[in-house]
Amino acid sequence: MQSAVDPATGRTWSAELYARTAPAHRPVTLECDGAGADGPCRAVTFFRRASVDGRRPCFFSRDHVTDCTSGSIATDDADAGPARPTAAIASRVRWVAINLDPPAPSRGPDGRRRTTEDPSQPSAPRHDVTAGTSTSEATLRPRLRAVLATLQGDGYPPGAVVRLDGFPQLPVERFFVRLEHVDAAAMSGLSRGYYGHVRSVRVDPDDGSWLVRAHDSDISVVVSARALSGSRLSGTDPATLVDGPLLALGHPRPSQRSPGRFYVKVADPTLLEIQAPARPGAGAGATTAPASPRV
Ligand SMILES: [Zn+2]
Repeated sequence: MQSAVDPATGRTWSAELYARTAPAHRPVTLECDGAGADGPCRAVTFFRRASVDGRRPCFFSRDHVTDCTSGSIATDDADAGPARPTAAIASRVRWVAINLDPPAPSRGPDGRRRTTEDPSQPSAPRHDVTAGTSTSEATLRPRLRAVLATLQGDGYPPGAVVRLDGFPQLPVERFFVRLEHVDAAAMSGLSRGYYGHVRSVRVDPDDGSWLVRAHDSDISVVVSARALSGSRLSGTDPATLVDGPLLALGHPRPSQRSPGRFYVKVADPTLLEIQAPARPGAGAGATTAPASPRV
């Protein structure tokens, strides 16, 4: 779990904020802020520090009510492992509060991973949707890769509202935009979650940035070199990503060089998720991928 509520004040705490707060200023007790079919869960909740092997700080409870929205399906706390769809509790979900991965923590001299405290860094708190918000309604807190897996699968229940700082609050069906065959010009300037499949990845020889083209779309994704270096894609062979699913949070702008084409520039690695295709061996020839025959 990435959030919990202080029953004394009603304030919702994110695990990241809790981890940064001196023990003397932390709430004495915490409760689960999820809900089951019969109402709020309120199970006694504990804090788990960031681990040496790099897991993020989190909250946990062993006493969730049945179907608690903060139970294991809803929160996707596991730091490793393949993405799993999160829509299992479909009809009761009212909020989809996207839980972005924080910037990669720096490593100390002993090789231990540390929470980044550098105020000059683009930081997770800017996107922190959990602190100070009420979560008494059913709320999913999927990580970005789980969001992408869900979009590729059954999707989210229509009407559930996406909540992510810096983006408009919109129903899932309007917030997430399929890149295939979308009217690119109509989406220009609109901050949304754009998703589709990678057609090709061209690495800029000058600065190392990526131009990621999507199948059947006039909207591409440009990943800045800095975003790459701070992301899990760093060190990934782009060829392995062709035909894989792609999700970029941002807004398309018209391309200067290619009239009629648009691109979403990603400068913050937490706003991008690209995965290798599930089918083994599907991603050969990244930089020279031919146009897809499907139109
Ligand atoms: Zn619970």
